[in-house]
Amino acid sequence: MSGIFGIYSKRNCIEDLVWGTSYLQHRGQKYCGWAVANNGKMTYRTHAGKLREKINFAEAKEVDGKIGLGVVSSCDRQPVSEVSKFGEFFIAYDGNVISAKNLKEELLKNGHSFTGYYDPTFIPDNVLIGKVLALRGPVDGLEELSRRINGDYSIILLTKSGLIAARGWGRKPLILGKSDDSYVVASESCSFPNIGIEIERDVNPGEIVMIDNKGFTSLKQLDLSPIKYGTFEWIYTANASSKIDGVSVEEFRNKVGAKLAERYPAEADVVSEIPNSGIGYAIGYANKTGIPHQRIFVKYDYADRSFTQGTKEERDSEAKRKLIPIPEIIKGKRVIITDDSIVRGTQTKESHVPRLKEAGATEVHARIGCPLLQDKCPYGKTTKEKSEILAVKMGMTKDSDVEKFLGLDSVGFAKPEDLAEACGKPLENLCLHCWGLE
Ligand code: SF4
Repeated sequence: MSGIFGIYSKRNCIEDLVWGTSYLQHRGQKYCGWAVANNGKMTYRTHAGKLREKINFAEAKEVDGKIGLGVVSSCDRQPVSEVSKFGEFFIAYDGNVISAKNLKEELLKNGHSFTGYYDPTFIPDNVLIGKVLALRGPVDGLEELSRRINGDYSIILLTKSGLIAARGWGRKPLILGKSDDSYVVASESCSFPNIGIEIERDVNPGEIVMIDNKGFTSLKQLDLSPIKYGTFEWIYTANASSKIDGVSVEEFRNKVGAKLAERYPAEADVVSEIPNSGIGYAIGYANKTGIPHQRIFVKYDYADRSFTQGTKEERDSEAKRKLIPIPEIIKGKRVIITDDSIVRGTQTKESHVPRLKEAGATEVHARIGCPLLQDKCPYGKTTKEKSEILAVKMGMTKDSDVEKFLGLDSVGFAKPEDLAEACGKPLENLCLHCWGLE
């Protein structure tokens, strides 16, 4: 998973580029990078680690660039460059090409080669995509890509004269914004307010947009049906301050929380959350019921997002260390705890519930912002292994199975129709693959 950011400015864009990309850090913490273009010259850097820790600000200030591209990623080094008869360009990409193996074999058969990869069996998706775009040109290449691949993506290309942004079937967000002197495109709108950018509109699924000194020009609208919005963006992935496909992430979570209160009432003394992604649901639940909302876990400020760690061990280790309980609030209370989802269930079983009970909670009721997961995500979110998913691993079919296994007094999951109602989109336009509903 990645966060991608592009800017076309009338002035040096470096500061806004670094900050705009940093506000997407929650989408990936393993690698970061940027590239800028000015008067036909292109400069770039990539690093392992987080952007604000790795960037050399003194060096960056020396870069005179008005067009820039930034990326943070949980799996591969970006941006990647490509040289073709259409010119040089850099690619920042958020997505997953499920058919990458076929695409690689097809490209090899047509005479392409991949030089410089230590592991020749693994060629990153964005390198494969770069080859298709180099062969056909950016716009025709993007159209061809949508016909040839199975998967989904959002992509930004930096050329010497501007940016080209494109979105696949809708699972990966991409939004346009502007100020008096800059045009911006980003994975999420949380990049915008603190660098003085206002939302213009989302890039439509299937749309290819040019961003240059004329502003935004829609170059093509591909007919990529069926449109499938990335439901998990609202549920967990996106920053709560973002607006995705016209829907405020925080309001979505509040609405689902209120729906959970309607569906699954419980006698309780306090409503709280697994921070941070459970917060919006707890507020919605508490506002609907009048049960006080209090913090019972504090998230260690310097923790990474456990989901965006590379390996299962890294994820479990990060998740275990990041929450600090507040026993004074928990002791003697009947607690309703909200969370965005239950994927593997490991932390709920081994850490959250036992720690609440140790701190003196008399009852623990869980309310979850989406149905119990049933499948892996083929598009690069949640988990890559179906066998890791709790419901699959334990053969769970009923909520009572989950309650028993996790040691909960009760559990309640939001229904698919609650998600559709909260985002105001038809159920058939939501990606529901990871709940086994496609
Ligand atoms: S399968 Fe689930 S996590 Fe993956 S894109 Fe679809 S809704 Fe999102």
